[in-house]
Amino acid sequence: MSYNCPVCGFEKLTFEPYDEKGLASYQICPCCGFEFGCDDFPEKEEAFEKWRLKWIEDGCVWFSRNPPPLDWNVQEQLKQLQNR
Ligand SMILES: [Zn+2]
Repeated sequence: MSYNCPVCGFEKLTFEPYDEKGLASYQICPCCGFEFGCDDFPEKEEAFEKWRLKWIEDGCVWFSRNPPPLDWNVQEQLKQLQNR
């Protein structure tokens, strides 16, 4: 099971960013570096948006020290995000 990052659209998060009660996983997205429960202050949706714009502006750089999945395609990922 994998989950989508609400910020960058990365589709292979190990944990659900927020559970059904809205509690954060405190996982850091390996793609955009957003930490759920930490970087979403004070307003989630707004924080997502800001972080996403900055991430795109900075050239959509892979965040984690571990390499991205072999089939990682940032253009495709952003397209999916826009469709949501
Ligand atoms: Zn992300």
